Amino acid sequence: MGGGPARVDAAHAVVALDPGPAAETPAVTPSHASSQPEIVPDPVAGAALIRAIREELPDLALLTEQVDRESYRQDETPYLHPGLPLAAALPATTAEVSALLRLASRHRVPVVPRGAGTGLSGGAAGIEGGLTIALTKMHRILEIDHANMVAVVQPGVINAELKRAVAAEGLFYGPDPASYEMCSIGGNLGTNAGGLCCVKYGQTRDWALSLEVVLADGTVIRTGGKNVKDVAGYGLTQLFVGSQGTLGIITEATVRLRPAPSPRSTLLAFFPTLEASGRAVSGMTAAGMQPVTLELLDRFTIAAVDDWHHLGLDRDAAAMLLIESDLPAAAASLELDRAVAACEAAGATLLVRAADAAEGDLLRQARRLAYQALERLGTVKMEDIGVPRSRVPDMLVVIEEICARYDVRVGTFGHAGDGNLHPNLVFARDDPRAEEVTEAVRAEMYRAALSMGGTLTAEHGIGLARRDFLELQRGAEVVAVMRAIKLALDPLNILNPGRVLPPERASATG
Ligand SMILES: Cc1cc2nc3c(=O)[nH]c(=O)nc-3n(C[C@H](O)[C@H](O)[C@H](O)COP(=O)(O)OP(=O)(O)OC[C@H]3O[C@@H](n4cnc5c(N)ncnc54)[C@H](O)[C@@H]3O)c2cc1C
Repeated sequence: MGGGPARVDAAHAVVALDPGPAAETPAVTPSHASSQPEIVPDPVAGAALIRAIREELPDLALLTEQVDRESYRQDETPYLHPGLPLAAALPATTAEVSALLRLASRHRVPVVPRGAGTGLSGGAAGIEGGLTIALTKMHRILEIDHANMVAVVQPGVINAELKRAVAAEGLFYGPDPASYEMCSIGGNLGTNAGGLCCVKYGQTRDWALSLEVVLADGTVIRTGGKNVKDVAGYGLTQLFVGSQGTLGIITEATVRLRPAPSPRSTLLAFFPTLEASGRAVSGMTAAGMQPVTLELLDRFTIAAVDDWHHLGLDRDAAAMLLIESDLPAAAASLELDRAVAACEAAGATLLVRAADAAEGDLLRQARRLAYQALERLGTVKMEDIGVPRSRVPDMLVVIEEICARYDVRVGTFGHAGDGNLHPNLVFARDDPRAEEVTEAVRAEMYRAALSMGGTLTAEHGIGLARRDFLELQRGAEVVAVMRAIKLALDPLNILNPGRVLPPERASATG
C-alpha cells in the first residue's frame, strides 16, 4: 500500500473535459457514437462536482482532505502508480449512490467504485481528480432466507462476516478468497473473486442470483430476484459480476446459499519436483475427483510460510499440495484415500493427514497467509495465470524457467485444482530492476499461458494492471463487443474509465 507518483492513468489521459452546460445537460446523453469519449478530470469540473454533492447530499460522508484521499489512491497492487482522487464519498444508501453518479455524469467526472481495496489488479485504485465511491458504509446483511436458501446483502459486507452469519444458521456461502477476512462482497462481485474452494463450488458469479445496480446516469435497476431458475432476457447479473466497476455500481446482492458441509478433512502431500505435484493435480482431475481444496505451494513459499508460522513443513520438498474433503466422515476418508493414491502415482515423497479439523484449519490459514509470508521477504509482484488443468505441470516448469532466466526469486502458490497459479516475483525493496523485470517476466508468462489455452488472469481481473494485454488474449473482435457493451451502459465513460478496457488508441497486443 502507500502512495506513489500519479502517472499511470494520467499517461493515457486526454485532458478534454467540458464541464459545460452542467445543470441543464441530461445526466447521460444518449450516444450514437461508435466510440466513447475519453474522460479525464478537470479541476473546474471537479470543484463544481464537490459543490453540487455538498449541496444535494449534505449528510454524506465526503472526504476531501489530502491525507484521507491518499488512502484511496492504491489498492493492494503494489506496482501501479495510480492517481489521487479528488474526493472519496462514503454513501450509506442506494439513493446516495444514485445521486452521486447522476452528479458525476453531469459534471463528467470519472468515478471509481471501491470495496475494501484489497484488489490485485488496480481496479479500485484512484483516478487523478476522479471521485472514488467506497461502499464500506453499506455493510448490512439484510436477510438470510432459509426458505429460498439465499442471503440479501449490501456490498460492504465483509466476505468472512457473511460466511460466519450463515454458518451460525447451518448454511454455507461458498466464495472464499484468501483475503476473506478483509474483502467485501461488492468487491468479490466486482472481480468475480475465486478462492480456495472454487474447485468444488465455483467462483462468485456462480453464487450471484440477482443484483441491484446503479447505472452511470444514476438509474437504479434490479437484475433478478430469488428465483434459482430465471431466463427472462439477457443474463445481466452475470454480466455485471466481474465487470470491475466499469458498467455500474452494485448496491445490493442476492446470493445463493447451501446447507453447511461437514467439517473438512485435510491431507498434505510433498513432492520432489514441481512437475510431480502438477502431475498429481492433473491426475486427480482426470480421475474425476472433486476435493473442496486443491492448493499448491512451491519450495520458496513453503519456506516463507514455515519461517513465519513454524508448522514443521517439509522444506526439502519442491512442492506441497493441500488437499481437503468436506464430505461426511467416511466418504471424506475415501476421497482422501483416492488423493493419496493419485499423489503416490505422481511421485509424492511424504503424505500427512491433519489430526483433526482444528489442525486442518491451521494449515488452511497458513496457506491463506502465503502472500503475506512472501511480503515479509521484499516487494511482491503477484500474477494470476490460469491454464487448463492438464497443463498445470507444464506451466509450473515454464514459470521456473522464465524466472531463472531473469534471475528473479519466485514463490508460486495457488489454486492448482482450478489450474490457477500465482507466481509471485519477490524483489529486494530497493531493487532498481523490479519494474523492468516484472514487465518482461509477466509478458513471457502471459504468452506461455495463452499458448497452452490459458488465461492471463483467472480471478484477480484485468483492472489497470493487465489491460494492455486483454486483446492479446481475447482478440480484437471480442474486445470490440466489450467496448459496445460499455458504450451502451456508460456512454460518457464515467465508470472506472481505463480499467479492463484499455483506452482505444493505447490498445496493444502486449
Ligand atoms: C492477501 C490477499 C489474498 C487474496 N486472495 C484472493 C483469492 O484467493 N482469490 C481472489 O479472487 N482474490 C484474492 N485477492 C484479491 C482481492 O481480495 C479480491 O479481488 C477481492 O474480490 C477484492 O474485494 P475488495 O472488497 O477489496 O474490492 P476492491 O479491491 O475495493 O475492488 C475490486 C474491484 O471491484 C470493483 N468494485 C468494488 N465494489 C464494487 C461495487 N459495489 N460495485 C461494482 N464494482 C465494485 C472495484 O471498482 C474494483 O474494480 C487477494 C488479495 C489479497 C491482498
